[in-house]
Amino acid sequence: MVAIPTTAHGVPSIKVSRNAINVRFADPPAVHDTRDLHKRAECGESIGSCSPGQCCSENGWCGTTGDFCGGPQCQLDYSDSCDTAKSPSGESTLGVDRSPLGTVPYGTEITQCTSPGTMALTFDDGPWEYTSMILDILADRGVKATFFVSGNNLGKGMIDDESTQWPSILRRMHSDNHHIASHTWTHRDLNQVNPDIRESEMVYNEMAFRNIFGWFPTYMRPPYAYCYWSTGCTDTVSALGYHIINMDIDTKDYLFTEPATIDNAKDRFASLFPTTAGDDGHIALAHDIHYQTVVNLTDYMIDLSLSRGYTLATVGGCLGDPEENWYRNADGGSSSSAETPALTPTPSPSVSPDQTCGDTAGYTCQGSAFGACCSYYGYCGASAAYCGTGCQAQHGSCDTLPSGLYTTANGLCGAQFDATCMSFVKWLPVGIQRAWGLPLNFQLLVSVG
Ligand SMILES: [Zn+2]
Repeated sequence: MVAIPTTAHGVPSIKVSRNAINVRFADPPAVHDTRDLHKRAECGESIGSCSPGQCCSENGWCGTTGDFCGGPQCQLDYSDSCDTAKSPSGESTLGVDRSPLGTVPYGTEITQCTSPGTMALTFDDGPWEYTSMILDILADRGVKATFFVSGNNLGKGMIDDESTQWPSILRRMHSDNHHIASHTWTHRDLNQVNPDIRESEMVYNEMAFRNIFGWFPTYMRPPYAYCYWSTGCTDTVSALGYHIINMDIDTKDYLFTEPATIDNAKDRFASLFPTTAGDDGHIALAHDIHYQTVVNLTDYMIDLSLSRGYTLATVGGCLGDPEENWYRNADGGSSSSAETPALTPTPSPSVSPDQTCGDTAGYTCQGSAFGACCSYYGYCGASAAYCGTGCQAQHGSCDTLPSGLYTTANGLCGAQFDATCMSFVKWLPVGIQRAWGLPLNFQLLVSVG
């Protein structure tokens, strides 16, 4: 058995920074003798929950500090006090109008800049103790970057807690004209959690931003860089009005956090985009929670990009999106709506307040927070399940479908829909009926035709 360093409580010693890494690709945790751990563990599957006020850690120990309650490792099923479950102060932002802003696409993953010859450097998982340093470096170099902020990961406390350094760091980030985007509240994998947690991971982060700035972002990057349509993730973040940003250059800096290894991240960066700027623009991923990234990799990325003829830009900037669209005022509209006259549409029929749409419901999806498309079943949404086969164009927007026979977007097929189910493979994640109100017979329809 491998010896595991332990704390006074016999808990395997886990450095806080471990929560920060992309777990999916990270070094595996230290090898445990699981039989031994289960014998001694205090909480978890087949053992039970911690006492009220305590958190069940990844390895089954009850406690109240960041090691137990922080980030995605805290076991929600056996704890009542994980950071994930704690909301920032004030009213929920869920009721804020989510009308689409600008022309950058929603509901699809964006991995590259659209402005030719641009390079967007992006930094995830902060703010952290090195974030002020990277802001200094970027200021010295005159470079604007994009920060995907996690509001309460790593057991660091809430970013809107004025007794911490986080609010002032974020205010400086904004006043330095960097682009601030969301990376969820506690860095949970949005594909793995239930719809309620998926939503609170986005909304709690919004509330913290609202408490600091009065607005919250319209751009997000999913933790671990995955947000699948099949799990409901794409629908959730799109319905909340977020652009989904990933990257085409992954430095994997979280694997190379030592002076002796950081050159591997540099080599990856150098090898993943053309040596001469051309028609393409690129989005590079690194993390401002790693010291070597901040003091070593960042200057390298700036120097190499410039030497290859690229223009360094923010994500919003390199997608041609005006800055007022990067943020949504907590009272609705874009961040500049206070200065611009509000449009006063008089929709008829009314915009759906509860996701229902169509003749019976009497609502349109155009302008609905749930998405602009009215599905065959009479529900508003933004994905192909709503905008594709059977979509009701008279009650909202629909995808433009090619003429002739095409592959169904949602299981509806046959002559009536000019669609085939031959290539349709789909599974419904647990909870989707609760989350999206799909009819119970939806799964049966999938196999018909
Ligand atoms: Zn992350």
